[in-house]
Amino acid sequence: RADKDRRTLSILGATGSIGRSTADVVLQHRDAFDVEVVTAQSRVDELAEMAIQLGARLAVIGDVTRLASLRERLAGTGIAVAAGPAAIVEAASRPVDLVVAAIVGAAGLEPTLAAIDAGADIALANKECMVCAGALFNRRAAAASVRVLPVDSEHDAIFQSLEANNLRAVERITITASGGPFRTATLDEMRRATPAQALKHPRWAMGPKISIDSATMMNKGLELIEAHHLFDIESARLDVLVHPQSVVHGFVTYADGSVIAQLGAADMRIPISHCLNWPRRAETATPRLDLAALGTLTFEKPDLERFPALSIARTALENGDWATNILNAANEVAVAAFLDGTIEFLEIAATVEAVLERATATVGGTVLDTVEAVLALDGEGRRLAAERIEFRGRRAS
Ligand code: NAD
Ligand code: MG
Repeated sequence: RADKDRRTLSILGATGSIGRSTADVVLQHRDAFDVEVVTAQSRVDELAEMAIQLGARLAVIGDVTRLASLRERLAGTGIAVAAGPAAIVEAASRPVDLVVAAIVGAAGLEPTLAAIDAGADIALANKECMVCAGALFNRRAAAASVRVLPVDSEHDAIFQSLEANNLRAVERITITASGGPFRTATLDEMRRATPAQALKHPRWAMGPKISIDSATMMNKGLELIEAHHLFDIESARLDVLVHPQSVVHGFVTYADGSVIAQLGAADMRIPISHCLNWPRRAETATPRLDLAALGTLTFEKPDLERFPALSIARTALENGDWATNILNAANEVAVAAFLDGTIEFLEIAATVEAVLERATATVGGTVLDTVEAVLALDGEGRRLAAERIEFRGRRAS
């Protein structure tokens, strides 16, 4: 390979599920990529090991109390170290071709925007940062003339199914959903669901936050919002279809009635590889689809009664960026509260809905024209969610 064919890249959230799959894709084509930065929040040992394996130049740990331990682990390797949220933002703005945004939650917003401002294309896994910033995210990307390549499997499927010359002939966009661990559960079973049950996804092995989002189907709600921003399409032309086999990841319906879909094994290395190599393709060590062995693919409408998060998110999308910002913030707090045993499973969506209702009167219509405004509103959403969880906890005890 000629040197100009090598891509330089940084991985934000390198120790997570997406980060590790990204490392896998990179290691399979060691000569195609130069890794500049890897970051993580707290797992020092894994971060150090990855930095060495990938030959990164800089490793950054979010938790400053772990800097000494990271330095010790990387002593003599020539890999630079840094710590703290500001160091992650600074590292994200190092010049590279592509930044893989794989931090979970709104915490990924500032590093991702720093990468955009520095002119890197973004392979976006961190959907929450797009959901909380709304149109601001796209404005920043457009101002820096960078591309946002969707890692999220459904959005990568849509990206692959869109024909550049026929964008105006797109009638509808559909993202599929596995239905999560509670697709066939009763409301009563869902009420009593434990974190262990909710974390057990039937198709994908993912980080804890997105696994719970899949169980409530808030993940599909966040993905509707993500699709709106990525593909500039309004809510009325965006559909969700439950497809338990997770083979068809998304499809585009064109004005002439043609439907173009992307199919593939449920393995995130496929969309990651697509983004890392785009517009080329490279071989991946992923399972190949065997449709004859599968035999049947099934599709069904989502049940909005058992999965209210989906309608709550759609309404937020229709109400604008302030609402999706609050939705995301309240959901992050509620998911954490469910995982630590403070609230019941069905209370996740109920909390988000109640917070949105309260926020409508106080911060409804807030314009998100700066990052400061985005983060302030996010803080308010978190405060309202924590308040409601505490209030209900006190009433119950
Ligand atoms: P994960 O929990 O496995 O990993 C999260 C990563 O972010 C870790 O490296 C962690 O150290 C880092 N991190 C966490 N909090 C941080 C903070 N406050 N500051 C800086 N870094 C922090 O999560 P994941 O499953 O890899 O998901 C990452 C993102 O990708 C999420 O937004 C998720 O919705 C999205 N996504 C994941 C999948 C998947 O298959 N896992 C699929 C589609 C989209
Ligand atoms: Mg997805």
